[in-house]
Amino acid sequence: MLSKQELLYEGKAKKVYRTDDPKYYWIEFKDDATAFDGAKKGKITGKGEVNARLSALLFPRLAVQGIPTHFVELLSPREMLVRELKIVPVEVVVRNIAAGSLSQRLGIAEGTPLKRPVLEFYYKSDDLHDPMINEYHIAALELASEEDLALMKNYALKINEYLIKFLQPANLVLVDFKLEFGHHEGKLMLGDEISPDTCRFWDARSGEKLDKDRFRRDLGGVEAAYQEVLRRVEALV
Ligand code: UDP
Repeated sequence: MLSKQELLYEGKAKKVYRTDDPKYYWIEFKDDATAFDGAKKGKITGKGEVNARLSALLFPRLAVQGIPTHFVELLSPREMLVRELKIVPVEVVVRNIAAGSLSQRLGIAEGTPLKRPVLEFYYKSDDLHDPMINEYHIAALELASEEDLALMKNYALKINEYLIKFLQPANLVLVDFKLEFGHHEGKLMLGDEISPDTCRFWDARSGEKLDKDRFRRDLGGVEAAYQEVLRRVEALV
């Protein structure tokens, strides 16, 4: 049994601790929430638990689908043991329906279905506010190798197909989501989390938003929406 050692890094939504084995990290999911590049700050009670439990439910299922992930085990309702990753500084966004920044940038009404999934890449840099980049930037700046980029694209689209189908019986529509990848002992794996913080989930019947947009846009019922997503997904398994 590994033990929790010193805090390595505290992010907006998670704390990362060292363990007595350098190959594994101990992650604690927080209730703190930020939006708009940290300009909006708040707390979503119970969020850490929802995000940890949902991620713990989804990561092993993705592994079965051939997508390696950093997940090892859930240690408590909001703590997770993961493999240490050297993070690739590229965030991958997958979109099925226009929303958020895509709707704003391209003037497409939120809720417009896209004819095929759209992949976007963002350079992970707090100082630069995660600018959008394309595959040429990734190659020219050597942010990821050609082989890793191909794998990230392939994994992202596979995850999308799997999650769309998996969430369907829960009446959850997967609008868009963000993924992060990294290397563990030289192998590319999915990291971070899959949660209402990093995905847009809409109720299939009413279109009601069941994700972080409730916090971003002050829609109310934030905590209830997070709980509802977990409840519906747990009812599937
Ligand atoms: N997203 C994220 N972290 C970010 C930016 C986006 O998890 O730093 C997720 C977001 O929750 C949504 C998707 O990526 O599911 C696309 O977000 P978008 O580009 O529309 O930006 P936003 O409207 O969230 O600023």
